[in-house]
Amino acid sequence: MPEAKPDTGAGARMYALIEELYPICRSITGDGLRDTLARIERQLPAPMIRTEVPTGTAVLDWTVPREWNIRDAWIADASGARVVDFRASNLHVVNYSAPVRARMSLAELRPHLHALPDHPDWIPYRTTYYAETWGFCLRQRQLDALPDGDYDVCIDATLEPGHLSYGELVLPGDSPDEVLLSTHVCHPSLCNDNLSAIAVATALARELAARPRRRWTYRFVFAPGTIGAIAWLAQHRDVVPRVHAGMTLVCLGSAHPFTYKRTLVGDAEIDRAVALVLHDRAAGDQLIDFFPYGYDERQYNSPGFRLPVGSLMRGRHGMFPEYHTSADDLGFVSAERLAESLAVVTGIVDVLEANRRYRNLAPDGEPQLGKRGLYRATGGTSIPDLNLAMLWVLTLSDGRSSLLDIAERSKLPFATIHVAADRLRDAALLGE
Ligand code: ZN
Repeated sequence: MPEAKPDTGAGARMYALIEELYPICRSITGDGLRDTLARIERQLPAPMIRTEVPTGTAVLDWTVPREWNIRDAWIADASGARVVDFRASNLHVVNYSAPVRARMSLAELRPHLHALPDHPDWIPYRTTYYAETWGFCLRQRQLDALPDGDYDVCIDATLEPGHLSYGELVLPGDSPDEVLLSTHVCHPSLCNDNLSAIAVATALARELAARPRRRWTYRFVFAPGTIGAIAWLAQHRDVVPRVHAGMTLVCLGSAHPFTYKRTLVGDAEIDRAVALVLHDRAAGDQLIDFFPYGYDERQYNSPGFRLPVGSLMRGRHGMFPEYHTSADDLGFVSAERLAESLAVVTGIVDVLEANRRYRNLAPDGEPQLGKRGLYRATGGTSIPDLNLAMLWVLTLSDGRSSLLDIAERSKLPFATIHVAADRLRDAALLGE
C-alpha cells in the first residue's frame, strides 16, 4: 500500500463546496441549516437521512429550541445609511438574536455591540442560543468611528416553534458495527470552523462509497453543535452499542499541524490508529488527552454513552487567533490542506479496515520465505522494510497481537505491516 498522496482534484472539489456554503447564514436551527444539509447531500454518494426534531422535544437533559430564521439586519445612522449591514457579512448579527426594531442612542446601543480590540479589522462571531437577547458584531475600527447620535436598529428575524434539522449518511459494511464521523454544521460564514471538516467528511464518504467492500459500517452525522449531537444520541440509543470507533472532525482546512484529542479512555483502537497515522507522517502533529470541552466528542464520551470518539483537528479549538472571527475566511483554508486532511482521515480509516489478528500457520521456526518468492535478498547489512515487516508479522501473529500491535511494536509504518500481512496471507502463511 503506497503512501497516499494528497489528491489535488479532491482538494479543489472540497474547496468548491466551502465556497458554495460560505455565504449561507447557518445556526443551530432554521432554513440556513436546512439549505446547508441539502447542498451537502448533493455531494454525497447516496441520499441523507434527514431528521427534523420539533421545537420543545425533550432530548436527554435538553429541549429542542425554537427555530431561528433571519432575513435582514442593520444599524442605520440618522441619514438612513447602513453602518452595519447583515448583507455584507452574516457575522454582523449575534447568531440566534431575538428580533428587534428600535431607535436608540449610541449609549443605549453600545451594550449590544461586540468587537475585538486586539484585532480591530476582524468581525467576531458570537451566539446567544440559550439566553434571549440580541446584538451586533463589528470591527473595532468601525465601532470606534461611530459618532454619537441616534441609530435605527433592525434585526428582521423570527424565533418560532419549528424544528432542529440534522442529516446522516450510512454506508453499510460487512459488519453492522459502526465508525461514527461527526461534524458540526451550525456555524455561519466561517471556513475552517467548520466548513472544512464538512467538506472533508463529504469527500471521505465519496471515497468510501466507491470501495467495493467495507469492513465496518460508516455513519456520517452532520448536526448542529451540542444540541444536534444530543438530539442524535437521544434518538439513536439502538445505534450506540454498535459504535466501534469514531471521531469528531473539526477545523481541517488550515495550515496548522494536526492535533488529535484522544477518547476519554485514551487507548481505544481509534486512539492508537490515529497515533500511528500521525506518527508515520512525521510532520510534527500532536496528540492530546481528552478534556470535557471543545466539540461534540464530549457528548459521545459522556458517562451514559462512553463512545470511543476522539477529535481530529488542525487549528485547535479557541487557540488560533482567527478562531470565531471573520478572518476564518476563504483565504484561511486551502485545497492543498483539505487534500492533506482527507489523506490523513482516509489513512485512519484504512487502519481500522485492515487491523486484524492473524495466526501464523507455519509457527514452528521461521518459514522459508525465499522459496515462496517473498524474500528479496539484499547485499547490504539491512533488510528492506517489507521483509522486516513480514518477519514481525510472522513472529507476533499468535492470535493475540493485532496488526496495530505489530506496527506499534516494530515501529514500522502501518501500511508496510498491512502489505506484509496481505502477502503472507496470500501465501497461506497467515490465517485469521
Ligand atoms: Zn466553533
